[in-house]
Amino acid sequence: MELACLDLEGVLVPEIWIEFAEKTGIDELRATTRDIPDYDVLMKQRLALLDQHGLKIDDIQAVIATLEPLPGAKDFLDWLRERFQVIILSDTFYEFSQPLMRQLAWPTLFCHRLICDEDGRVVDYKLRQPDPKRASVKAFHSLNYRVIAAGDSYNDTTMLSEAEVGILFHAPQNVIDEFPQFEAVHEFDDLKRAFIAASERSLSL
Ligand SMILES: [Mg+2]
Repeated sequence: MELACLDLEGVLVPEIWIEFAEKTGIDELRATTRDIPDYDVLMKQRLALLDQHGLKIDDIQAVIATLEPLPGAKDFLDWLRERFQVIILSDTFYEFSQPLMRQLAWPTLFCHRLICDEDGRVVDYKLRQPDPKRASVKAFHSLNYRVIAAGDSYNDTTMLSEAEVGILFHAPQNVIDEFPQFEAVHEFDDLKRAFIAASERSLSL
């Protein structure tokens, strides 16, 4: 049996924090781990900024609800779900991704949680586990599933390595150059072909 594991941001939906920063005009929210390598420091800064601008979880979700999946993403996902059991492995938060997951018809999503108080203020966040994408693929292997995985960035590469077949999708050139062992494609039609080919290949492994 085979599972298809997909990254979310950059593959099916835009980068949520970046789009959110654009929609709200809060420029400091554009910072990523490239600017602030310590993820905890970055997240604490993001939460402080939300608070400073009086943005509660409902306001945040209302802004995110104006975002849309990437063009062709919903059709691709529907196609994939007819052929594989699909699980999305993401470093986003359920509360953040909810308005976009609704537009994708609620595929299975493994990610992290935000912690809100009774007034809807986002007060903290909870990561599910360390290196969650790799840990998930390992767990699926223990259930006797083969895994074909696709993602766009550094935080996907341990998932891609752990899977029987890893595919880079929409990846920037520096990631493609650094990880030449993974096939890199840029269009959903090519990603479909890559999944079919990977499925045939992994059956012979
Ligand atoms: Mg991504």
